[in-house]
Amino acid sequence: MTQYRPFEMHCHTRHSDGTFLVPQLLESAAAYGYAGLALTDHNAVTGLLEVTPELEARTCRVIPGIEWTTFYGHLLVLGCRHFVDWRFVTPDTIDQALEEIRAAGGVAGVAHPCEVGAPLMCGCNWEFRVRRWDLVDYVEIWSGDDPHARAKNALALPWYDALLNQGHHLAISAGRDWHGPDVLGSTPLLTATYLGVDGALTAENALAAIQGGRTYVTLGPTLEIALSQQGSCLGLGETARPGRATVRVAVGETDRREIWKRNEIHPRFVRLVANGSTLAELPCGEAAVEFSVELTPGWLRVELHGSDFHGIIKTIALTSPIYVEAGDGR
Ligand SMILES: [Zn+2]
Ligand SMILES: [Zn+2]
Repeated sequence: MTQYRPFEMHCHTRHSDGTFLVPQLLESAAAYGYAGLALTDHNAVTGLLEVTPELEARTCRVIPGIEWTTFYGHLLVLGCRHFVDWRFVTPDTIDQALEEIRAAGGVAGVAHPCEVGAPLMCGCNWEFRVRRWDLVDYVEIWSGDDPHARAKNALALPWYDALLNQGHHLAISAGRDWHGPDVLGSTPLLTATYLGVDGALTAENALAAIQGGRTYVTLGPTLEIALSQQGSCLGLGETARPGRATVRVAVGETDRREIWKRNEIHPRFVRLVANGSTLAELPCGEAAVEFSVELTPGWLRVELHGSDFHGIIKTIALTSPIYVEAGDGR
């Protein structure tokens, strides 16, 4: 059975430029109610040597990772079984590097693709010329604490949508790019990436969730999504057929509520977005909302909109796509 669990997908420690000790990072993540995190130090995996089964049992699950930090962009690389060299990758050899990651059993995600680049933050924006998008598993569409406070995130979503419109299958993630302990008494607007984990909560099953496209990002509330079509029931990352379908969305407000309620997040309506345009919209309340829609080839995602402590309507949560085949079995 698939169970969606909250993760923080982008973290640094003293093994690169963070101020966290490794146990301190895991303890902080557990205190915020995360079931796990991806440890993604810049060009370093030595932090993983400090992750023991006892520490994980006491705090949260760790997905082993690294943030390839280059002059042409940052790539989150998770779960490689052996070392893959990042040092000589250039915009024109990125496909070969992605092949090596895949061969090593790794999962690859584009970090903050629309971050400010040179001369302010040299290498932080994405300049790699990927041709093999089938070798990329996910895109970090929300980067930082408050995803709506930074222009890079406003640019990242259309950037990502353009890739979906080209027919690529890519999951989404949020990453706080967490570098150190929070100021005592502060109430940061914390995102979470929920991963649809099949079976036990292991790093392998968490990686399989990303590869299967079973992810959504949120400022707090949870989403339960089921697409029904001709007797079958589909979830995120799966492929439907063109034609009539029912999409049921249940918004949950209990999971980790003590963490995010301080930011006065209030869900207002659910939107279905198909191939980049709004397909339908319904207000949300106690009960699940149900859409009856006509699917066309491409992709479909669920978005939850509402307000936070600023009182401005914004995206509270959004999902990786459900894909719709071309009709000829593709
Ligand atoms: Zn980065
Ligand atoms: Zn980072």
